[in-house]
Amino acid sequence: MDADVVVIGAGALGLSTALHCALAGRSVIVLDRHQAGSQASGRAAGLFKSVQADELRTRLARRSIELALGFGDWAGEPLEVERSGSFLLARTPAHADYLRRELAQSAGWGVDLEAASLARLGEQVSYCSPAGEGYALWCPEDVYIEEPMSLVQAYAAACRRHGAEVAEDEPVVGLEVTGGQVRAVQTERRRITARAVADAAGAWVAQVASLAGGEVPVAPVRHQLLITEPDQGVVPGDPIVRVVDAAVYLRPARGGLMAGGFETGALPVDPRLQPASFSTDDVPLDAGVLRKLTDQVAAEAPAASAAPVAVHRGGLFTMSPDGRFVLGPVPGVAGLWVNSGCNGSGFSSSPALGEALAAWITGGEAPAGVAELAPSRFGPVSAETLVTRGLWQYAHYYDPMAPDPA
Ligand SMILES: Cc1cc2nc3c(=O)[nH]c(=O)nc-3n(C[C@H](O)[C@H](O)[C@H](O)COP(=O)(O)OP(=O)(O)OC[C@H]3O[C@@H](n4cnc5c(N)ncnc54)[C@H](O)[C@@H]3O)c2cc1C
Repeated sequence: MDADVVVIGAGALGLSTALHCALAGRSVIVLDRHQAGSQASGRAAGLFKSVQADELRTRLARRSIELALGFGDWAGEPLEVERSGSFLLARTPAHADYLRRELAQSAGWGVDLEAASLARLGEQVSYCSPAGEGYALWCPEDVYIEEPMSLVQAYAAACRRHGAEVAEDEPVVGLEVTGGQVRAVQTERRRITARAVADAAGAWVAQVASLAGGEVPVAPVRHQLLITEPDQGVVPGDPIVRVVDAAVYLRPARGGLMAGGFETGALPVDPRLQPASFSTDDVPLDAGVLRKLTDQVAAEAPAASAAPVAVHRGGLFTMSPDGRFVLGPVPGVAGLWVNSGCNGSGFSSSPALGEALAAWITGGEAPAGVAELAPSRFGPVSAETLVTRGLWQYAHYYDPMAPDPA
């Protein structure tokens, strides 16, 4: 069997890469060890966020929103996207200053963003009533996808519509390299020769790259969220709220409220140190972590900490040392590419990241600015540093301008 491009991993990043390669006229096979979207992507919160820490990520985030909203037009499959808008809320003077800087910076990069009073936030959002001091921003262009699996399914259907094969329950067990060039992919069932191989294996991305002797510098770190039982106080489609000083996000979900957040000292989980059968189902969940986070916003959004919990789910982010995506050719292994280093935004940035990597693979040149994301920007990084840096980036998801110890 032969393909122009083999993509390893049928999560959001792999499927988007495959779809854009197929749209560029390449023969494509996507291989997943489990079901498409069953690991990180299907468990995501589904939030898209225009406000990012640098111009490139802002551009990719906004392009992704555009691609998600127009999915039916360019991919040929329907996709429902909730045009909710979002508020960013800061309750400390330091975080308010941080948001003021974000307002100036993001507006300069074209984001539709404005300062909003706390009263306006309380009027526009059924489930959140901020009291006391604070500062808020309103971003009308932010969106969310109610059920993250719907994006995965739309990608998979669009891949098949455009001629790509999406193979599930077919683990990749080997990569053949001769003369420094990857030549073929070995699964449990077949050998596929390929001109390009894209490693989009999520938390297993380093493990897969190592099959070809390549290295991808990411540390998988646990992230969790909850959804409450349906609650009449939560109006479906209401805006997303991100409380930046508490590092907590909130949105309507399944008739109730979704809440998730970023603790300090999160749990790193390296699949390479786990049994071979390890999957996201084996990542231990800890309701206490979520309770501490939601308690911090109990005054503003009481349902988040008081309403009965209907869903508690979690999975792994792939954190990179500088908090930016890891996208491009894997150093030292010609023909091997990577789409990873999600840093908690891989679901929402997948439309643009897949588009960018596919253009790079099929056209031979990185789209403007994207070469900055190549894994070659890192020298050798020890496993310990990867974890330390990854945990720092995770804890500072909403305030990446905080003084960095590195
Ligand atoms: C609780 C939670 C909430 C989140 N919320 C958001 C959010 O609101 N917005 C956002 O942008 N991001 C969010 N994220 C992050 C987002 O889910 C990830 O960035 C994104 O899903 C990464 O996609 P992926 O394709 O790299 O990984 P995955 O979806 O994990 O896909 C990787 C795939 O590779 C497969 N694989 C691994 N090894 C092999 C092998 N040897 N052979 C074949 N296949 C293999 C796996 O089975 C898996 O299906 C959240 C994550 C979690 C856990």
